[in-house]
Amino acid sequence: MLNFKIKSLQACRACIARSQFFHSSLRPCDKILCVLYPDPSSGYPPQYARDDIPRIYKYPDGQLTPTPEALDFDPGQLLGCVSGALGLKKFLESKGHDLLVTADKDGPGCEFEHLLKEAHYVVSQPFYPAYLTRERIQNSPNLKASITAGVGSDHVDLEAAMEHNVDVCEVTYCNSISVSEHVVMMILALARNYIPSYEIVSHGGWNIADCAQRAYDIEGMKVGTVAAGRIGQAVLKRLHPFDCELHYCDRHRLPKNIEERYNLTYWHDWRDMVSHMDVVTLNCPLHPETEHMINAETIKLFKRGAYLVNTARGKLCDKLVIRQALEQGQLAGYAGDVWFPQPPAEDHPWRHMPWHAMTPHISGTTLSAQTRYAAGTREILECYFNNKPIREEYQIVTNGQLAGTGAHSYSKGNATNGSEDAVGIDPHNPQGETVIRL
Ligand code: NAD
Repeated sequence: MLNFKIKSLQACRACIARSQFFHSSLRPCDKILCVLYPDPSSGYPPQYARDDIPRIYKYPDGQLTPTPEALDFDPGQLLGCVSGALGLKKFLESKGHDLLVTADKDGPGCEFEHLLKEAHYVVSQPFYPAYLTRERIQNSPNLKASITAGVGSDHVDLEAAMEHNVDVCEVTYCNSISVSEHVVMMILALARNYIPSYEIVSHGGWNIADCAQRAYDIEGMKVGTVAAGRIGQAVLKRLHPFDCELHYCDRHRLPKNIEERYNLTYWHDWRDMVSHMDVVTLNCPLHPETEHMINAETIKLFKRGAYLVNTARGKLCDKLVIRQALEQGQLAGYAGDVWFPQPPAEDHPWRHMPWHAMTPHISGTTLSAQTRYAAGTREILECYFNNKPIREEYQIVTNGQLAGTGAHSYSKGNATNGSEDAVGIDPHNPQGETVIRL
């Protein structure tokens, strides 16, 4: 496993030396542990396909994109991998902190677990999550905060974080638009039978009927999003020009002017909505209310031949139920980029099921998104180092309570993050095989 460490020991020694003379101004070095995905197999840095990225200063709701004091990287650089180190190296070293970077995150005794015991801050991306379980939190006495370089903090046991007063924050909105583009791409890819048609032509074929027999327009289709937060709303906005009929459900109803602008139909309960939909897209966080919401019972509510796109979290769905629904024709296609666990095993059923358009977890880690979440991670660290408040929308858990976006979008309860699928395991069927009777 690729592993890379940056330790500014000299800086630490400098602090210790200073402390002998200036006790009152002593600021101990913090250890910032970043768990990042391995470098590209062709080496780092990559050959970039483009020379720049558009500058985005504001999100659609008017919130500013991250505002750190400075940046030590060029926008568009690959930052989410070990050598990219989220562009934090120079900044943290200049402040005399230790930056520890590892990709070795899985299994007991992994380097992440070992380094965590001393860390003050842990930073991880949902694409390559460092599962911060209750046990790991209990064994990390110095831990002040878990920072998600991205959006979605279900890899942290939020209950345990609240109990142990570990803050949890994320760079809210940094990649919500990136994901919404992926959702639209996947809806079109499934309905238009894009991937099988691509494979046919790549393998030298030209049977038009083989391609066309499963290809449809989405014009006029009923599309429903489960949750209309930042991603869900961006999906609705992007699908509006396709002349689809748009539906949504959410705990929080949207303002009337937005419903009218996109001609939206609101559903109080997503279970009632899905039976009418040609396309369903899941855009809610994973929390106790939503875990395995798509299971052997609820899949029967879907219209036969519906497409399901899930870029939210793998554990929203029972993996075997999805496979069987595709095999039996209840779903015409399933696409997404989120799995459980991540990385998934080589024999994970979603790698080989029919009519899928799965990717690894990539929709929120475009180079465009990385620029924002690396800058946002630095902004959050600067707030901690300078004792300044963190933007409310970045907060998931603060001072032992759900706060900010955490209070808006998550629920309290026992999380099952980091553990094997806890819901849906039938003691009479320990292999977890789920039988759907349609
Ligand atoms: P958001 O906080 O803006 O929106 C979440 C919405 O979900 C809120 O409006 C909330 O009210 C709603 N919600 C929560 N529980 C619900 C329930 N039980 N029923 C109906 N609605 C419910 O977050 P967002 O930026 O839109 O992101 C949503 C999720 O998408 C994240 O939590 C994360 O899991 C996932 N995500 C994935 C990627 C990726 O790369 N694939 C990137 C970013 C986010």
